[in-house]
Amino acid sequence: MFHVWNPDPVGHHQANLRALNPILAKVVWKAQADNPGHRFVIGSGKRNGRLQRMALVWGWSRMQNSPHQSGNAVDLWPLDQEGRVFFDRTAQNKFVFAMKKAAAELGVSIRWGGHFYGFRNSDRSHFELARP
Ligand SMILES: [Zn+2]
Repeated sequence: MFHVWNPDPVGHHQANLRALNPILAKVVWKAQADNPGHRFVIGSGKRNGRLQRMALVWGWSRMQNSPHQSGNAVDLWPLDQEGRVFFDRTAQNKFVFAMKKAAAELGVSIRWGGHFYGFRNSDRSHFELARP
């Protein structure tokens, strides 16, 4: 289903990065720059009304108003060696660590979706600014 959502995450990555809140974009940028071995792309960044409705229909989002709509949230997807998206827990854990470290070093407070309580499978791809 993620192919329909974002058929070319690698190609769209830079544009998606620019659309984010610049503070969040800086954390993503730093996490990548500091960890060239952990490849990941933005699967979903800023969402317009149509994309947010699609996320609700698919059960990706429970909220009518998501921090994605203001560019204060980002979903990151891991890439394999060939640059294809693959949802691997170990790869995800690596960039969760990279994101937390980058945020801490920049003095930015972020929340990781993997810690969301009560969300069906918790949202392991999701990061958002704690105080946008
Ligand atoms: Zn998200």
